[in-house]
Amino acid sequence: MIIVGSGHAGLSVAAELSRSGLQPQRDFAVIDSNPDGQRSWAFRWSSMELLTEAGRSTVAGQHLTGDPYRRPSPREIEQHLLDVESSLGVTTMWGIRATGVERLGDGSTLLLSTNEGPVQTRNVVCATGAAARPRTLGWAVGAAVPGIMVHSADYHGPGQIPRGDVLVVGAGHSGQQIARELSSTHRVTLSSRPTYASAGRPIRRLVGRRRTDARGAAALSLDPEWAQLGIDVVSAAVAADGAHIVFDDGRRIAPQSIIFATGYRPADGWLPRRVLDATSGRGKRGTTGVPGLFVVGMPTYGSRDADTFAGARRDAISIARHIMKRP
Ligand SMILES: Cc1cc2nc3c(=O)[nH]c(=O)nc-3n(C[C@H](O)[C@H](O)[C@H](O)COP(=O)(O)OP(=O)(O)OC[C@H]3O[C@@H](n4cnc5c(N)ncnc54)[C@H](O)[C@@H]3O)c2cc1C
Repeated sequence: MIIVGSGHAGLSVAAELSRSGLQPQRDFAVIDSNPDGQRSWAFRWSSMELLTEAGRSTVAGQHLTGDPYRRPSPREIEQHLLDVESSLGVTTMWGIRATGVERLGDGSTLLLSTNEGPVQTRNVVCATGAAARPRTLGWAVGAAVPGIMVHSADYHGPGQIPRGDVLVVGAGHSGQQIARELSSTHRVTLSSRPTYASAGRPIRRLVGRRRTDARGAAALSLDPEWAQLGIDVVSAAVAADGAHIVFDDGRRIAPQSIIFATGYRPADGWLPRRVLDATSGRGKRGTTGVPGLFVVGMPTYGSRDADTFAGARRDAISIARHIMKRP
């Protein structure tokens, strides 16, 4: 059996399989395409704070130590995952990328294709991450600003952004954290999609509302004092006209740089077409309709909060049960 992806979702499945009596390296292997030991958290900007409090940032049932109410940094989670991996006795095989999976013969066996060659196995767990590929906006190709344009996935800190006005597109928790951080060094405009709004309500008030999300924690404390930080909150950016960005209320600005905090797409492109296209037979806690093929950590295939610590663990428990019951 092969678990593809050694983030918290993959390790959660490894933990549940171990709890059921299976042994890592003997009964199941964990592979990951990243270079040696580098998990996704290693690439997030260093000042980032998780939404989930430390006490809820539980991977495979193991807790972060220290104040349970603090917001952990990506580095802490990185270390926590290393600790979890070592306590499970898992030795991740790094640098191996899954490129496809298909059923063989009567369908009781799967053929997993990788950059190191194909391998036959009875079960494959896809744990390759819901937040893997930067989501881009169609209109962005028409933008030509004098500074830089980066996705939040490639944001490292204020030092990376040239002097001048910055437009942060997207007011989810990444966009808000980045806008706040940049406000001490740059003049910032924060563009918010109307998803946070209900029709007819002024965007400024809505961005200031407090929300909770599926991460089981209060969403980032939405600061109503954007003006005090000098941040101009505007409506959705809808078009680019060279150096000018156009908003849905007709307003136009010419920022020096743009940061797209516009979310991510999952790394599920290596799954069979029929799984990607299926409208039924999937979404039951990680099952896919293909016997022996499971997905953990992606809401499209499991619980609505499958991309969180808590949700991934719940789906991992269910997947391990399915695997143990397979004839
Ligand atoms: C900015 C940000 C903040 C977040 N904050 C929180 C939070 O506060 N609380 C919370 O619960 N969740 C949070 N999340 C969501 C989620 O917890 C993280 O995205 C988490 O990293 C997901 O873990 P994962 O194991 O599913 O995927 P990942 O951590 O992305 O791990 C997937 C692994 O699969 C590997 N991989 C990918 N493709 C292949 C392939 N084809 N073959 C082999 N290996 C492959 C990758 O190298 C990677 O190591 C946040 C996400 C982001 C982006």
